[in-house]
Amino acid sequence: MSECLFCRIIAGTLPTEFVYEDEHVVAFRDINPAAPVHVLVVPRAHIETVADLGGDTAGIMSRLTAAANRIARDAGIHNGGYRLIVNCGRDGGQTVFHLHMHLLGGRQMPELAA
Ligand code: 5GP
Ligand code: ZN
Repeated sequence: MSECLFCRIIAGTLPTEFVYEDEHVVAFRDINPAAPVHVLVVPRAHIETVADLGGDTAGIMSRLTAAANRIARDAGIHNGGYRLIVNCGRDGGQTVFHLHMHLLGGRQMPELAA
């Protein structure tokens, strides 16, 4: 069995409700939400970080963004706006090493810290 938390969620061994799924992408609510809407948008393929993308896999970011936009519309936060974040590596604040995009919204997001 995979050691990767998000691979286990994707495989269904760690039961988690998907708010969106397609052939390449799944999305589920963050367990520790930082905003009223906080969804993690995740490629089914195990790719550790955004720094690993390129060549054949470069298109994954477009798929994640398209899914996030659709989830934002379905959540009714499309007009007010929202924040998309990808943390990369230790200094980027990444804690789960399976690529994911955070969709945050439903309130005014604070200015990014310097
Ligand atoms: P990162 O810090 O790697 O960008 O984001 C990882 C996110 O995964 C964190 O916001 C954390 O709250 C979330 N998370 C960690 N474990 C779980 C889990 O078991 N289920 C869900 N739904 N989210 C998780
Ligand atoms: Zn994984």
